[in-house]
Parts: sequence; C-alpha cells; structure tokens
Amino acid sequence: MPKFKLEYIWLDGYTPVPNLRGKTQIKEYDVFPSLEELPLWGFDGSSTQQAEGRSSDCVLKPVAVYPDPARTNGALVMCEVMMPDGVTPHPTNKRATILDDAGAWFGFEQEYFFYKNGRPLGFPEAGYPAPQGPYYTGVGFKNVGDVARQIVEEHLDLCLAAGINHEGINAEVAKGQWEFQIFGKGSKKAADEVWMARYLLLRLTEKYGVDIEFHCKPLGDTDWNGSGMHANFSTSYMREVGGKAYFEKLMAAFEANLDDHIAVYGPDNHMRLTGKHETAPWNKFSYGVADRGASIRVPHSFVKNDYKGYLEDRRPNSMGDPYQIASQILKTISSVSTDVSAAA
Ligand code: ADP
Ligand code: MN
Ligand code: MN
Ligand code: MN
Repeated sequence: MPKFKLEYIWLDGYTPVPNLRGKTQIKEYDVFPSLEELPLWGFDGSSTQQAEGRSSDCVLKPVAVYPDPARTNGALVMCEVMMPDGVTPHPTNKRATILDDAGAWFGFEQEYFFYKNGRPLGFPEAGYPAPQGPYYTGVGFKNVGDVARQIVEEHLDLCLAAGINHEGINAEVAKGQWEFQIFGKGSKKAADEVWMARYLLLRLTEKYGVDIEFHCKPLGDTDWNGSGMHANFSTSYMREVGGKAYFEKLMAAFEANLDDHIAVYGPDNHMRLTGKHETAPWNKFSYGVADRGASIRVPHSFVKNDYKGYLEDRRPNSMGDPYQIASQILKTISSVSTDVSAAA
C-alpha cells in the first residue's frame, strides 16, 4: 500500500489575524484517501496560542482534502481546531459556526505583495521605484521584475492541480503587488479554497526567499496601493429573481449592518479605506453602478438584467478571514425578506 504524506493544515490562535500552520503525518491507503478516511489528529496548542487551561492538547478535524501536487502521494488536509473532546469547536475555530448555503456563490479577489529584504519585490534599497501606472496588468522586466511571474504561474498550476477553483491572475497597481481570484459555491467551500491557495503561495515562495505581505496597507500613508480582497457574491434569489425593490432593501440592510461587516473585513482597514484612490471611506456605506469608489459596486450587467446577478463588496481586505466575510454577507442577506410586496 502506498504511503501518503498528509499535510494537516489549520489556523492558529494569533490575533487579529490567524496564521496558517501545518504538519505532516504518513499513513497507508490503497488510493488517495477520502475525507472520511482521514483520522483526527492532535497538536500542542500552547505553541499556537490555542492552549486552554493546563491541558495544551488541541484536536485537528479534517474538513476538506485536496491532492498536494508538490509531493508524491501528498494530500493537503484543511482542518478545524477542536477541543480535546474532539467535538466541541475551539474558540479560535470560526469555520465551525459560519453560515453556509450552497446556493450562495463567492468570488474572492486576493491581493498581496511579494516582499524581499523588508520591502516590496522590485523596490530599490532606498526610495521608491517609478510611480504607479505601468504596473497594473503590466508586462516587461522593468514593470514586473524577473521572478514574480514565475511564482504566480507556478502557484496557479499548484492550485489547479489541487482542484482549487483559481479563476485568474493579474499584476496589481503597485510594484510587487499581485492578485488571484478564487470562486466557490458555498461559504465554506470558497473560503477553504482561499485559505488553501494562501497556504500554497506561502509554501511555494519559501524556496525563492520571498515573503507574502498580506497587510492591507503595507506602505502606510502614501499613494502606494493597498491590498483588498473584494468579495463578489450572489445567492440563488439574487441570480434568479432579484429586482430593484429587493436590491434596495438589501443595500439598506448592508448600510444598517456596516459595523458588523467592517468588524470582520480585516484589520487596519481604516488605513486602506480612506475615501481616496478608488476606495470608499470605511465608515460610510455607499453603492453605485460600475463605481469602483463605492463600498459595493453594482455591475452594469446586474442593472441591465433587472437587478439580477452578483454584487461586489470592495471593502474586505487582503488580511480578512474569508470564512467570516462570507458568513457576515450571508447574515445580512438572510435578514432581508424576499417579500418585496410589503416594501415601500
Ligand atoms: P474586478 O477586478 O473587475 O473587480 P475580477 O475579475 O478580478 O473583477 O473578479 C470578479 C470575481 O467575481 C471573480 O472571482 C468571479 O468568480 C466572481 N463572480 C462572477 N460571477 C459571480 C457570481 N454570480 N456570484 C459570485 N461571484 C461571481
Ligand atoms: Mn480583480
Ligand atoms: Mn484588484
Ligand atoms: Mn474587484
């Protein structure tokens, strides 16, 4: 029987954003194991800020499994962290309690910076490179350097081979900044794949001596671009029924729940959502057709199609937890009655 390398991957207890952790165990299976065949495992929670009381054992519960294209007989095992009883979710385990709905589709646009020697890849040792302009979707050594594209291509291939629904890549507005998009049906599925894509990117770049900077405004209060994780979303009702009256009620609910959304849209978002540079101010909700300066962008196609389709919440940032982002969006949507005859 072949020996499989099972990489159990989980989110640790660091705040405000958890880190990815992983460790390997070897197990024999006839063929690539299904989720049901993967055993619970444990780790030392006192080393990951997840220890509870005197007992530091935490339990890893597999919740999704992907082939690991970088290893012979490798599996990437996404896990939830459980209490020692193996059934109670650990307080740091947000995934266990999020809202989910297979009819709710999410497209996350993950932006990030490559960093080397404490600065964005391609930045000179002192000062700044040429100002922003040519980098977004750019080509050529002076715009993207010599290694970034190699990394994003390799990352794309790893994601696709793992069965992750990676949808595309673009070089972003700042030098050294890139984006990839992940689409999934259901909050858990989409968010698991974002976390797994982040994991694969972090692991891949080790050998290049390059770090991934997920902070939403790594260059601080400058004109240099921040990093978002726009969340595109639609429910079956939005896609199939929609309508202007429902849309307006939905937007009113997003406005009323502004604080709950911002609370899970990633730390330090006030540094990024300043109201300048195609961002809406973090503390004021707005929406607009094709408006990239609004909190929620309404695609042209949505309006043309009788207010049916998907919307883009531009506020979530690159550090945000996609589990909580998707869940909050679903929570607000669920608070809106689809009985629009009662409205107005
Ligand atoms: P932009 O950079 O113009 O904002 P992208 O092409 O980077 O747009 O991202 C658009 C995202 O919208 C993709 O991840 C895509 O999967 C997602 N998307 C498209 N249709 C839907 C839909 N019906 N529901 C949810 N997300 C969707
Ligand atoms: Mn995009
Ligand atoms: Mn982008
Ligand atoms: Mn976008």
